[in-house]
Amino acid sequence: MYIPLKSRVSLPSINDEIVEIDAIQEPILICDCHGEIQALNQEAIAFFEYSREEAIGQSIDRLLENPQLVRTKDDGCPWYDRLSARDIPCQTKSGKIVLVWFSCSAIVRSTDALPVILCIGRDMTERQQVELQLRQQGERERLLRRITWHVRQSLNLQEILTNTVADVREFLNCDRVSIARLDSKKRLRVSAESLATGYGSPLGDRIDFESLTDVLSTCCQEGKIVAMEDIALSELSLEDLARLSPLPVKAQLVIPISIGSPTPDGKVHPPPRLERTRVWGLLIAHHCQNPRTWQEWEIDLLEQLTVQVAIAIQQAELHEQLQAANRELKQLAISDGLTQIANRRHFNQSLQKEWKRLTREQLPLSIILCDIDYFKLYNDTYGHLAGDTCLQQVARVLRRATQRPADLAARYGGEEFVVMLPNTDLAGAIRVTESVRSQIRRLAIAHVNSPVKPRVTLSFGVVSAIPHGDVSPESLIRAADLALYRAKALGRDRYCANEGTAPDPGLDRGQISCDRASISES
Ligand code: GH3
Ligand code: MG
Ligand code: MG
Repeated sequence: MYIPLKSRVSLPSINDEIVEIDAIQEPILICDCHGEIQALNQEAIAFFEYSREEAIGQSIDRLLENPQLVRTKDDGCPWYDRLSARDIPCQTKSGKIVLVWFSCSAIVRSTDALPVILCIGRDMTERQQVELQLRQQGERERLLRRITWHVRQSLNLQEILTNTVADVREFLNCDRVSIARLDSKKRLRVSAESLATGYGSPLGDRIDFESLTDVLSTCCQEGKIVAMEDIALSELSLEDLARLSPLPVKAQLVIPISIGSPTPDGKVHPPPRLERTRVWGLLIAHHCQNPRTWQEWEIDLLEQLTVQVAIAIQQAELHEQLQAANRELKQLAISDGLTQIANRRHFNQSLQKEWKRLTREQLPLSIILCDIDYFKLYNDTYGHLAGDTCLQQVARVLRRATQRPADLAARYGGEEFVVMLPNTDLAGAIRVTESVRSQIRRLAIAHVNSPVKPRVTLSFGVVSAIPHGDVSPESLIRAADLALYRAKALGRDRYCANEGTAPDPGLDRGQISCDRASISES
């Protein structure tokens, strides 16, 4: 067999060579030093599809896709060196392009004759295809990792969906990708979409999938992929198309996003029972310009991607549920179970905070402490449940009376309530008290056995002070309690008020003024 030669060697005769090279399983051409084919083996005949007669006497450049490579170049480099050691695109007689790796050597037959050029070819088309496939496979895996990473970056559902449609549209290079979510009424609603410029948006449109053809229903109900190369030739009716999208869709790919129980390798088990997996929604890709053949690997990749998206969706949904539960817990921790207004603990924390702030700002803070008159008697008369309802009614009035964001009404204990009014002076606090009294009066909750009036009344202790760093907010509460005690002592159904800049000795000494109107009224 011939070995690619770098140096010149001698051969007996061309006829001997033909016999020898026919036995070799690679295409071999023997040319003269101008590139004219002198001989070729059976493998070359089969490969280039020219018969021996057709080939002999032709220039080798007839076989090249780019004949310029041999014919016109005058760069001091022999033509056969230009062919050597790289993939050369060649054209067979039938026009097929094949890649050939030539090893070319000049061979001297005898000292007085010109050398012949031995060109041994190797078909590289297959290897190139394998390399291409490997490269594409690597690119796809990188892409999948990138999109998956992107999708997993967020616990926010909308962000996940928006990132997914943008990444998938870029990957497929199509005109529109949307994710439609299946709601409890089995209607699809587009939740996120990515559009090529110039296409309208159906975001938020509801698509009633139950009225769609079997194709999409199947996708929704059984979790099957639907790939339509040309929807004009598909089973989809025009009516369905109009319902599905206002766009002039030519090709469509629909992949269900199934929420299931993933295995450690990221794949979703086929559902052992139907309720184990459910179709959460659909990933829909539209090609609007032309029909399009959806490649198997594209579908495979998107299928893998939707498994990742489904996991991210599940995590986001769990996260949302957890956050809602946390919000609820937080609300429970700060509110009173019966009346739903703030509890005493939350009031105390807020008071500390506001006290500090107003100490810095040197602005007034007012407190209204109020207590239902003869409430034990109310319970005795109407029962404990009615008592509870009465407490809820009073709490509602207090909540309505606290208008500003920093105002806070809380249940202080039993039938005692407290209202904190930051940035409010005594006059303002008395106005709020009057408003509460008049609303309670308007409610006219019967309390026939009350020694005060035949309806529910409250007594109030109202205090206001500009907080001072040296005293605690509890001193203000004590002063309010004192004022309330006084209002009770004076006959109930009234307020008593006290004002001072803490620590104002007046707060403790009981320099308290009480509302004359209510005294005369009672
Ligand atoms: P005063 O006018 O002096 O305030 O008399 P009072 O009867 O309202 O005060 P007292 O402290 O003697 O009684 C308070 C009553 O409030 C006793 C208790 O059963 C009732 N109470 C406290 N918490 C609740 C509650 O959550 N629901 C009901 N229904 N009653 C409650
Ligand atoms: Mg009471
Ligand atoms: Mg009480």
